[in-house]
Amino acid sequence: MNNKRMLTGDRPTGKLHIGHYFGSLQNRVKLQDEYETYILVADVQALTDNFNNPEKVKQNVKEIVMDNLAVGINPEKSTIYLQSMIPEVAELTVFYSNLVTVSRLQRNPTVKTEIAQKRELFGESVTYGFLGYPVNQAADITAFEASIVPVGEDQLPLIEQTREIVRKFNSIYGDTLIEPEAYLGENKRIKGLDGNEKMGKSLGNAIYLADSEDEISRKVMSAVTDPARIKKDDPGNPDICMVAYYHNLFSKSEIKNICEECKAGKRGCVACKKQLIKNILKELQPIQEKRRYYEQRPELVKEILMEGTKNARKITKQTMEKVKKAMKLDYFA
Ligand code: ATP
Ligand code: MG
Repeated sequence: MNNKRMLTGDRPTGKLHIGHYFGSLQNRVKLQDEYETYILVADVQALTDNFNNPEKVKQNVKEIVMDNLAVGINPEKSTIYLQSMIPEVAELTVFYSNLVTVSRLQRNPTVKTEIAQKRELFGESVTYGFLGYPVNQAADITAFEASIVPVGEDQLPLIEQTREIVRKFNSIYGDTLIEPEAYLGENKRIKGLDGNEKMGKSLGNAIYLADSEDEISRKVMSAVTDPARIKKDDPGNPDICMVAYYHNLFSKSEIKNICEECKAGKRGCVACKKQLIKNILKELQPIQEKRRYYEQRPELVKEILMEGTKNARKITKQTMEKVKKAMKLDYFA
């Protein structure tokens, strides 16, 4: 029953960062040659924790599209679309909400962590919409009958939730939906500049793909290093140094030497940070160049998203027909 369709996406809550680049974007660029690819700009989901800031969501829609195009998503091969313009996804969300209990959502580890991080917004309780965003995400994936979903590690409990909904739906209404699988790359969770286990847009600990040389330099210069290392020739411990951690990603051919020199006290932190800045800039240079091309052509970006959304809806309408038939809601068919 499995097709070769892939769905993945991002919330327009900020520009994309190097966590996305290593954790998700590189995979989707590679997979777009093999799979029929759908890339979702999840504006409805972004509103679940930004309902009081619609302008932020709106502004970031085009940033997300440009970031995807800049890293190599090819609009000829991949369909980039806007979630809020696919009404079938909202409809499916309502149908699926009967198949999930409130306590199951409350136990979802990702939802739990995120609610704890958003105390300031939600206070003592949490909105129905935020608690239910995994149900909405199940609708996103199944509306396209996607068989794989390339994601970062934080998304695994959400994909599991989708799989449960699919199984429940199929067991009640008959075999209709495709059970998707998560696709995890080699770098499934990139840490934040502050040492947090996850770099995140909403966590203020990210290096963005579109950051200027000054911003990148400032962020790297203030990254956390081995606190026990005070003088330049003190031996360092790269295992607890964020600069060494990012060297692992950006300085693959030099990493062995970097760690040996650090441990022997032969390499100062400032020199090490400068080398990292140089390597990050080198990696991001072609991405930023491509991004500038699209920044100068806002009409083209809009066109890509409009066209993608139009094409995406052709698929979701077909899925909705199947779902309504299975649920005996095809009254006038
Ligand atoms: P927010 O803080 O608003 O949730 P985010 O930085 O988590 O933003 P998302 O748009 O939620 O970004 O995630 C888009 C995709 O990128 C998801 O597949 C997610 O798993 C992946 N991703 C996000 N952050 C990381 C990270 N630090 N390492 C690896 N993958 C990541
Ligand atoms: Mg997230």
